[in-house]
Amino acid sequence: MSVPKKLFIKTYGCQMNVYDSERMAEALGGKGYVETPTPDDADMILLNTCHIREKAAEKVYSELGRFKRLKAENPDLKIGVAGCVAQAEGQEIMRRQPLVDLVVGPQSYHRLPEMEEKTRAGEKALDTDFPEEDKFEKLRTRPKAARGPTAFLTVQEGCDKFCAFCVVPYTRGAEVSRPADRILTEARDLVERGVREITLLGQNVNAYHGAGSGGDLTLAQLIWELDKVDGLERIRFTTSHPNDMSDDLIEAHGTCSKLMPYLHLPVQSGSDKILKRMNRSHTADSYLRLIERIRAARPDILLSGDFIVGFPEETDEDFQATMDLVPEVGYGYAYSFKYSTRPGTPAAERPQVDEDVKTDRLHRLQALITKQQRAIQDAMVGRTVNVLFEKSGRLQGQMVGKSEYLHSVHVLNPKAGVGDIRPVRIVDSVTNSLAGEAIAQG
Ligand code: SAM
Ligand code: SF4
Repeated sequence: MSVPKKLFIKTYGCQMNVYDSERMAEALGGKGYVETPTPDDADMILLNTCHIREKAAEKVYSELGRFKRLKAENPDLKIGVAGCVAQAEGQEIMRRQPLVDLVVGPQSYHRLPEMEEKTRAGEKALDTDFPEEDKFEKLRTRPKAARGPTAFLTVQEGCDKFCAFCVVPYTRGAEVSRPADRILTEARDLVERGVREITLLGQNVNAYHGAGSGGDLTLAQLIWELDKVDGLERIRFTTSHPNDMSDDLIEAHGTCSKLMPYLHLPVQSGSDKILKRMNRSHTADSYLRLIERIRAARPDILLSGDFIVGFPEETDEDFQATMDLVPEVGYGYAYSFKYSTRPGTPAAERPQVDEDVKTDRLHRLQALITKQQRAIQDAMVGRTVNVLFEKSGRLQGQMVGKSEYLHSVHVLNPKAGVGDIRPVRIVDSVTNSLAGEAIAQG
C-alpha cells in the first residue's frame, strides 16, 4: 500500500469556505491525501482564502512567504491558493509568488485532482473559470466516516445583488442554487454519520430557488423537505438578505419546529441615504417592519446582523442613524466592520471617510452592540433552553453545546453525550457563554 500524502489546508473567512475546504480535502482524498494539522510535514499546502476583509490579498502573500523554508526543505511540496483571493488575483499570484504551483477559484474545486496531477508533472495549474457543471456534484461523495453533531451544507452560491462595497458577485459569480434532491441526499448522508444540526449556507441563502421534482423550490420549501428527514433535529440557514425574506420563510419560523429561532439578517447601515448608495434596496424602516413581521411569527427569535461603518460619504448624522437602529432591533449578536475598499467595486472609486473617523465610529458601535448582546444573554438566566451537546468542556465532567438561540452553554455532568439534546436551566451568564444545569428527566 502506498504511503498517504499529507495535505494541510488553512481556511480563512466564512462558513462557506469551511464547507469548501472539507470538499477539497475529500476531492484530494481520492488522490491519496490525508489531512495534517500542520504545514511542516505536508506534501501539499492549500490556502483557502477570503477577500471580504481588509488587505486580504496582502495577508495571503505574507503567509505564502512563510512557506519558503518548507519548500526549500522539500522541493516536492506543492503550494496552492484557493478561494476568493485566488479568483480575484488569478495569474497575478503566480507572477508575484513563484512558490505557488496551483491557483483555483471557488467554482473549480472539482478539477483539483487533475490540477494536482499537473503540478506533480512539474507544471503550474491555474483555473479561475466559472464552469457550467455543478462542482458539488462532480466532487467525490463524502466517505462514510462518523462526524460531529453539526455540519454546514452549501445550497446556494454567488450573488446578483451587487452591493456597492462587496466583491462576492465578482469572486463567487452569479447566483446559483443546487437542486433540492442533491441537498436532501447530502443531508441524509450527514445524518447517517451522526449529524443532528445542519446549517444551510449561501451568500444569499434566502434567494434559494433550486430545482425540485415539481418545479423550483423556495428556501422555505427546502426547509420543509429537510424537516421530514428522520434524525435531523435542527435546521439553520445563513446569510440572508432582507429583500429575500419571503412570506413562506417568515411563516416557517413560526411553524417548523426544526427551524431554530435564530436569524442573521444584515442591515449594513441605519441611514437611508447610505443604504441607497450601498445599492441595498431596503430602507431602515422597511427593515424594521420586516423584523416586526418575523417577531410576530416567532416572538422569541434571536436576531443578528452585520454593519459597515465609514462607507463613502457617511456623515455623523448617517452614523447616528445606525446607532439609533441598534436598540430598535435588539441584536443578540452583531458583526461590525470598517468599510474598506475592494478594487473593482463601485464604492472604491468614491470619496473616502478618514480612517480615524471610521475607527472612532467602529468603537462606538461595537460598544453599543456588546452591551446589547450581553443584556440579551444575561436575560437567559432562569430560562430553560434545549442544548445540543457538541464536545467536552475544560472541567472534569463538563459538556459544551449550543442552545436553540446559538448561545454557547456549558453544563457539569449533564448525563448526556455528544449529539444529545437536553433541556437545561440557565443559571449564570459569563463572557460569551452561559452556564446551565441539567434538568432531571422523569
Ligand atoms: N450577503 C450578505 C448580505 O447581504 O448582507 C453578506 C455577505 S458578506 C460576505 C459578509 C459581510 O461582510 C457583509 O454583511 C458586510 O457587512 C461585510 N463586508 C462586505 N464587504 C465589505 C467591505 N468592502 N468593507 C467592509 N465590510 C464588508
Ligand atoms: Fe455581497 Fe451580500 Fe450584497 Fe451579495 S447581497 S453583494 S453577498 S453584501
